[in-house]
Parts: sequence; structure tokens; C-alpha cells
Amino acid sequence: MKAICGIDVGGTTIKIGLFDEEMNLLEKYAIKTTENIFKDVADSLKDKNYEILSYGVGVPGPVVDNVVDCPNANLKNVNVKEELKKYVHNDNIFVGNDANMAALAEAKCGAGKGYKSCATITIGTGIGCGIVVDGKILNGDFGAGGEIGHIKVTDEGQCGCGNIGCLETTCASKGIARIASKSDRLRGLSTKDIVDMAREGDEEAFKLIDSVCYYLAYAASIMACVVNPSAIIFGGGISNGGAIIIDNIQKHFDKIAFKNVKNTKILKASAGNDAGIIGAAYLTKC
Ligand SMILES: [Zn+2]
Repeated sequence: MKAICGIDVGGTTIKIGLFDEEMNLLEKYAIKTTENIFKDVADSLKDKNYEILSYGVGVPGPVVDNVVDCPNANLKNVNVKEELKKYVHNDNIFVGNDANMAALAEAKCGAGKGYKSCATITIGTGIGCGIVVDGKILNGDFGAGGEIGHIKVTDEGQCGCGNIGCLETTCASKGIARIASKSDRLRGLSTKDIVDMAREGDEEAFKLIDSVCYYLAYAASIMACVVNPSAIIFGGGISNGGAIIIDNIQKHFDKIAFKNVKNTKILKASAGNDAGIIGAAYLTKC
């Protein structure tokens, strides 16, 4: 059977999905990330009875001309297309950044479906973001298009990128833990615990969550002026807190955004846990 293969390479796990030509998921599975990522992927597909037409690969880190540099995932200055091609003997290989893959999944079949353009901000240990305009990813000349996690929003918090005060040092899970550590009551609690307390009316927890939502809205307001998408979608991390988070981001956005972009919708991601493989598979059709 003919299939399109979507591959989502992470630091500990590689997720693999096989889709038919109408992009229905046929099968998915995961393998461990080792030093032999591409051989392992090819070996795992050998037992399956698919004629694979094309491969889409999402990797952590910026991608320029198929090359990614992400030592955490055993990808140190690796040309992903050339490496995978050695084992699968197929030239139809497309490579993209994982945040862009999540954004593509949201645009094609998630919360952004039906809009001409949308941006997806994925919150985890860091903050990734992808922008899809007219069905295509906005990569940027240096592979960092849409990297709003590194917009400077404060003067505190050392970021992994080397700068101080990036959005992710305040709004990603580690950032929220950093701010919570200043409070005797909130120190050591998870983001989920703090969101739950805020929802139940705890003033201190709400204040922290509200300030995180403000900074996310601030970044969204910049995005709205630069790209002017119909929707800005939030997934992962604190956005899993549900309505209290999305509504608060929208509240701040409505206050601070330029009047001509106030129609921008703030939405919760809906493509789910398979967004990485779905987006990678769609990348082969972009
Ligand atoms: Zn940074």
C-alpha cells in the first residue's frame, strides 16, 4: 500500500506515522532515539508493507537547507535529508523544525483549519512557534522565522540561547517555576498546580498566571502586527490549563493589540499529540 511517512524526532523518542494519500493516519508507533536515528527509522519501516512515496521529518532546532544542529537529539550539524536518504533510498525527503510541524498540523487539520494564515505557539520546556501563511510555513532565511520564544520581554531569567529575559524564561515551564520559586507558597509547585489554584480563586497563584498570560499576549500582539494572522493558537504547557489561560491571553491581547489586528482569534491547539507526525506528513505536500 502506498503511504506518506511523517517522522517526529525528539530527544528521547522518535514518533513515526504512516498516512494514505488523503492524509488519513494508517498506523503510528514510536522508537527510542539512539545515535543511529536514520538507520533505526529505516529499519523500523522495513517490516511494514508500505510503498513509501515521501518522507517528512520534524527535528528540534532551526533547519537551514535540510541541516539541523541539535546536540540534545544527537543531531549535531546533520544534513537530515542526506542521512535518511542513505537508508531509505528515496529522494522525496522534506525536513522542518518541530514547532513548524506542529503549526502545519494546526493549520491543516487543527484549530487553524480554514484560515488563510495562522501562527501556533507551542509551550513546553521552551517556547516554539510556527507561522503558516497561505498553507506554507514561513521559515525565514536563517530557519528562525517565528521564533517568538526569544523575544525579550523582561530583564531577568537566563535563557538557553544566551540572552536574558526571553519570553520562554517567563512563560515556559522552567520560567514559571523560576517565578514561583520567589514565593514561599508557590515554590516547587507544577504549572498545573498553580493554574488549578488560580482557578479556585487563590490570589497569589492568579497573579502569577495572569502575568504569564500578559507576556504571551504581548508576544502575540507583536506577531499580530508583523504577520496579521486570523488566529494565534497556543498549545502545550500552561495553555493546557484551559479556558482560564486562553481567556486571559485574549483579555490582555484585546487591551494591548493594535486596533487593526484586534479581530485576531486566540485559540487553544486542537491537533493533539500526533501534531508532530501529522505536520511532518503535510510538509511533503507543501
Ligand atoms: Zn532566548
